[in-house]
Amino acid sequence: VFVVFEGGDGAGKTTQIALLQQWFVQQEREVVLTREPGGTELGASIRQVLLHGDDVAPRAEALLFAADRAHHVATVVRPALERGAVVLQDRYMDSSIAYQGAGRELDASDVRRLSVWATGGLLPHLTVLLDVDPAVGRRRRGGAEDRLEREADTFHARVREHYLDLAAADPQRYLVVDAALPKDEIAARVSSAVAALGQG
Ligand code: C5P
Ligand code: MG
Repeated sequence: VFVVFEGGDGAGKTTQIALLQQWFVQQEREVVLTREPGGTELGASIRQVLLHGDDVAPRAEALLFAADRAHHVATVVRPALERGAVVLQDRYMDSSIAYQGAGRELDASDVRRLSVWATGGLLPHLTVLLDVDPAVGRRRRGGAEDRLEREADTFHARVREHYLDLAAADPQRYLVVDAALPKDEIAARVSSAVAALGQG
């Protein structure tokens, strides 16, 4: 089973992924916890350029995220799913559609096609969208910010709206949760949605 966590920076994805990992481990499932960008050795180099490069043109940015994703899916995600492991992933193609598509104002359907090509069309069983107000997210992450987090709140507001549109267009595949809820409440909603997949 393939579960992805999406949402703005500071939404609490890392915390929730760890809690869901514990839930699966209690059921003695093999869990692969991974992330994009940077879930492979190649991806770690790409992540460094993306987050700390001085200047990356928007289309180059989209292609670098896609390159990270192509390698990650081919070498980590697909092999894990094929052996029956649970894959819990921090960010996937919706991040690109929301950040490069809506945030950078590249064409969202072009960005989607690029990711579909990069991954051979692999989609998660469930995407958990932790919906966070950009100003709240910024406060939660505190001081240090990467190149993309430094974008204005208007950029992050476009990202947020696009995430919500993606979820609304495919309600079967998404669980949208208000990131301001207590973390145990969020975790309970996530584990019931996962249990409802019938694969937990
Ligand atoms: O979630 P994480 O902090 O690892 O993401 C790294 C950075 O890359 C974040 O600032 C996030 O906003 C940004 N990002 C992006 N486009 C993506 C994926 C992540 O701008 N497709
Ligand atoms: Mg971040």
